[in-house]
Amino acid sequence: MCGEPRKELVGEKLTLSGWVARRRDHGGLIFVDLRDRTGITQLVINPERAAEAAELAHQIRNEFVLRAEGTLFARSGETVNEAMLTGEVELQVESLEIVSRSTPLPFQLDEENVDETLRLRYRWLDLRRDKLQRNIGLRAQMVGIIRREMESAGFLDIQTPILFKPTPEGARDFIVPSRLQQGRFYALPQSPQILKQLTMVAGFDRYYQIAICFRDEDLRADRVQELTQLDVEMSFPDQELLFELMERMYGRIWRECLGIEIATPFQRLTFEETDRRFGSDKPDTRYELELEDATEATRGSEFGVFAGAEAVRFLRVPQELSRGDLAKLEELAKEWGAKGLAYLVYDEEGEVRSPIAKFLSEDEHARFRGDPASTVLFAADAWETTSRVLGALRQHLARQLGLVDDATFTFLWVTDFPMFERDEEAGRWSAVHHPFTRPTKEWEGRFHADPKRALAHTYDLIVNGNELGGGSFRIHEPELQAQVFDLLGLSPEEQRVKFGFLLDALAMGAPPHGGIALGIDRMTMVLAGEPNLRDVIAFPKNQAGVDPMSGAPSEVTQEQLLELGIQLQEPQD
Ligand code: ASP
Repeated sequence: MCGEPRKELVGEKLTLSGWVARRRDHGGLIFVDLRDRTGITQLVINPERAAEAAELAHQIRNEFVLRAEGTLFARSGETVNEAMLTGEVELQVESLEIVSRSTPLPFQLDEENVDETLRLRYRWLDLRRDKLQRNIGLRAQMVGIIRREMESAGFLDIQTPILFKPTPEGARDFIVPSRLQQGRFYALPQSPQILKQLTMVAGFDRYYQIAICFRDEDLRADRVQELTQLDVEMSFPDQELLFELMERMYGRIWRECLGIEIATPFQRLTFEETDRRFGSDKPDTRYELELEDATEATRGSEFGVFAGAEAVRFLRVPQELSRGDLAKLEELAKEWGAKGLAYLVYDEEGEVRSPIAKFLSEDEHARFRGDPASTVLFAADAWETTSRVLGALRQHLARQLGLVDDATFTFLWVTDFPMFERDEEAGRWSAVHHPFTRPTKEWEGRFHADPKRALAHTYDLIVNGNELGGGSFRIHEPELQAQVFDLLGLSPEEQRVKFGFLLDALAMGAPPHGGIALGIDRMTMVLAGEPNLRDVIAFPKNQAGVDPMSGAPSEVTQEQLLELGIQLQEPQD
């Protein structure tokens, strides 16, 4: 392979095949950087040694495929290239074959800032770049480790269908019309959730799958419609065993892929605690910068905004922020739903500067007083809004203040999420995780009495503020499952139509079970330090759900539609 030749092989006859990364003519001598997945070797074509090869070499352009035979030589002192693994040697070519040619390239592989649509249109070229070769390689290495860990822990790889029924994970379904059952549709699974639960009822005990999940969501930079998950389920679930298995697996991935030892066991916090301390359910715990609560301290405040707010919380920033900084932060806070941004700035002498200072009592000042050259930022609003606003400011400020160490990875389990949330528009409750999640022991008999406060036996895994995935212990009692469906507003008829098969299965000897699913795409992003989710996926779609390479989704013929019994309407805007 092109990345392999070393000094020890000097004098050997070698044959290398690969792509032309670069060709340079140096008064007679022609140099070619020949590249494959493993690296680059320099070919030297000397017309005096190989006249035919030199003649042919004039036709060579970037990304032609060559086969070169020759002898490996050590490079002379000043031409050694320390930056290349093969930089001490070069192949003196004796015979050369152009195996395959390339039309002029739409972009050069070493060109920066190439438009993403163009890159996706010619993805086979784009994938030849170092960064993408590395990302896709890392992903494959990681999946290999995952499989080995899961199998050695006794988990069985069981494949579940892609054409199925809706499996609720909170997104819209992709649906596929059936030709044989006209007027009926399959849904692509948003996750194999129900199916993996059925493998437990079926007695398989420990299931895993590298599963593709389909979610028709509006796309953001870190979302795709076709995501890959490590999907796991176990009977008679043991949270410690599950957590340890994941911690061991991540430990090994980080060790083998990056050579980094991560700290285990991972820290554990409840949702209530992460929300209170960090204003987020997926906090970045590489730095402190924690939120503080001043709701009690401001109940009688003369500053009306504080006195009347459901919650008053604040963040201490170890810097005397300027007016300009504060204006920018206020804008950011408003994007997250704040009405404004109250602040107290302490200068070098500890003097306070703020339009609200005059409204605050001695006690309030005492509660907030910060070090000289620091700033206190407030959110006064509904509790959720204060979390959202201060959580976002915390993240933003950590970057601005240089508190984020990009070389460290801090993993965190967040547990005990609320079970339900109120969908105000629809006027009903919905499941925060999914409707098959069981309440915590304390809430088992009484979750219906106070759905807003009821907690679920759930856990999410977070690294550096990224949610890698999550899971839960499940309901295995048909009566309890029906009660949860009732609370979610599903009539008995709807329960039968949508989930009758699950309720029937739970009624025929279902073991207690629980599991987890972790996003492979997201994991690769974190592992590769790659900000663009699409660049850890070989053939992704763009933000509009289109594949610029193949043109998918595409139109179908009238005959196909007829066969399916489908008639198209004029598109509605
Ligand atoms: N099915 C869930 C998801 O895709 C994960 C789980 O509960 O195991 O998020």
